[in-house]
This record gives sequence, structure tokens and C-alpha cells, in this order.
Amino acid sequence: MSVNSPRPGARIVPCPGCGTPTPYGPDNPWRPFCSERCRNGDLGAWSSESYRMAVKPTEADDDIPEAQAPRQDSPRH
Ligand SMILES: [Zn+2]
Repeated sequence: MSVNSPRPGARIVPCPGCGTPTPYGPDNPWRPFCSERCRNGDLGAWSSESYRMAVKPTEADDDIPEAQAPRQDSPRH
């Protein structure tokens, strides 16, 4: 019963959040992160990033009705 011996199927990976060597296996509920904090932080960044990409801001801007988007007289460059 040595805690230092690597378990079969579990490997050590650097935590994507802080870089701490973290066991990637069933014993680590936060894998591949080292803790819930790192996991939540990274997932938050990922979700906002994917949300931004899914929205496609350029198309969304074109779809805004002129009535709700008052035009500025400044010329587009
Ligand atoms: Zn971490």
C-alpha cells in the first residue's frame, strides 16, 4: 500500500489551470485539473470563449434592425 507507486491507468498530467502535476485518473474528480477551483476557472474561460465564437458577432451586427440600432453618420472606414 504505497501511495507513491503509480496506479495502473492513472498518469500525471500538468493541471491546465496552474501547471501542478496532477494524477489523471478515477481518483481525481477534477481531472485533468488539480482542484475544483482550477477546473471551474478554466471551464468558465472555455465556455465564454466558445459562446463568443458561437455568436458570430459580425453576423449578429448585420441582423440588428436599424430601428433598434441608431445609425451614426460617421463614415465607415
Ligand atoms: Zn491547478
